[in-house]
Amino acid sequence: MAEYVDNKEIEIQKGYIYKIKELNNRFAVQNGRPMRANTETYGCQQNENDTERIRGMLHEAGFEFCDDAENADVVIYNTCAVRENAEQKVFGRLGILKHIKESRPEMIIGICGCMVQQEHITEKIKKIHSHVDMVFGTHALYKMPEYLYEVITKNKKSVIDIEDSDGKIAEDIPILRDYSQKAWVSIMYGCNNFCSYCIVPYVRGRERSRTSTAVLNEVKQLVENGCTEICLLGQNVNSYGKDLEEDINFAKLLRMVNDIEGVERIRFMTSHPKDLSDELILAMAECEKVCRQLHLPFQAGSNEVLKKMNRGYTREDYLEKIRKVKEKMPDISLSTDVIVGFPTETNEDFEWTLDMLRQVEYDNIFSFIYSRREGTPAAKLDFVLSDDEIHNNFNRLLEVQNEISKKKNDAYVGRIETVLVDGVSKNDDKMLSGRTDTSKIVNFKGDKSLTGKYVKVKICEAHTWSLNGVLVD
Ligand code: SF4
Repeated sequence: MAEYVDNKEIEIQKGYIYKIKELNNRFAVQNGRPMRANTETYGCQQNENDTERIRGMLHEAGFEFCDDAENADVVIYNTCAVRENAEQKVFGRLGILKHIKESRPEMIIGICGCMVQQEHITEKIKKIHSHVDMVFGTHALYKMPEYLYEVITKNKKSVIDIEDSDGKIAEDIPILRDYSQKAWVSIMYGCNNFCSYCIVPYVRGRERSRTSTAVLNEVKQLVENGCTEICLLGQNVNSYGKDLEEDINFAKLLRMVNDIEGVERIRFMTSHPKDLSDELILAMAECEKVCRQLHLPFQAGSNEVLKKMNRGYTREDYLEKIRKVKEKMPDISLSTDVIVGFPTETNEDFEWTLDMLRQVEYDNIFSFIYSRREGTPAAKLDFVLSDDEIHNNFNRLLEVQNEISKKKNDAYVGRIETVLVDGVSKNDDKMLSGRTDTSKIVNFKGDKSLTGKYVKVKICEAHTWSLNGVLVD
């Protein structure tokens, strides 16, 4: 059963936000500008959503934001523990910040998120990166105002709060979202699955679901503020509600969100294949606002590897679920996560992974080379394949998938699609960019005043990862 942070505790933090705002006003009088913050996020959507809360608290405290750490008074990195390269990037950044802080010792550096909830990482920060002022885990995110105030006013160094991975749920924290038309809504935190390669259950703790009332209230509030697309987030949304006393599961929650007037599109992630029920497939098919898109990570195609990964399903189970999904929603767009080079994976095992791609025909895949995570069972296993073989397999995977993705996108040419406009394209400022119901990226010419609107676009050209089109009336 999820525990909630006491309202009084949230009010105390709001008090700290107010106090920082006062300091900020004084700072602005002296310096002609308020304090500037720079935030950076590593990892998954849940982390992005957490950063939106950090930025919400900073915004309420009067901070303005800048894109580079060099010009910031406060730098906060929200980190990820899932892959080693994200950790290396953070340590690289900390090295750069050390030099900046030598010339500007008043700069405040905070590191939060999953990565710092590993003891060896915190030790490394303490020993090598003592210029970091605040270190706090995901459970202590709502306490950031208190820590920041302490550091600013008492010059109290090394605030470290990483103890509790099964954190209480904190509601009613200010949030500054990246988009106004679409929003992430976390419905649960943590994970109970203990896939053998994954560090998440150790750093984010066991599953804790928010009540349906809390989720629905947040969605209604978002709609009142003009948001129309909701993405429900959780490490495994399919087990939503198992820890709640109310009679609820994810399929029921989906139907409830579908009933909210003003919501136009509903997405969700991530969905564990073993918990994808017939009830949920039916709810997806029957709810007209639920997008025709499913991200269902299979991770590996060989049953031997799936067993070693402790995934709880076989390739046959997985394919049967895909068959049911396609039967109910033939137009669905499918995506998946794939790990290449799990320690026990042989070249023969890998062929089964390629076979999965060919059988399912995903629109898109997120592929990763296995990253050894200290403290997980898989970290003790010996590798069968060499680095070269693993990289070679990874390249083959991309080749096979690129061909499938292009073929899938080609089928869109000539169709008129409804696109929710995200804004000006990041790659070409003369183009707008948005997404179809099936989450295809569509680029087209149009006025940026269309941002946040649903428009019809005729698809003219298909690339591997995106589509080009023209606005239709
Ligand atoms: S389901 Fe498995 S891979 Fe996903 S977060 Fe949980 S343990 Fe990690």
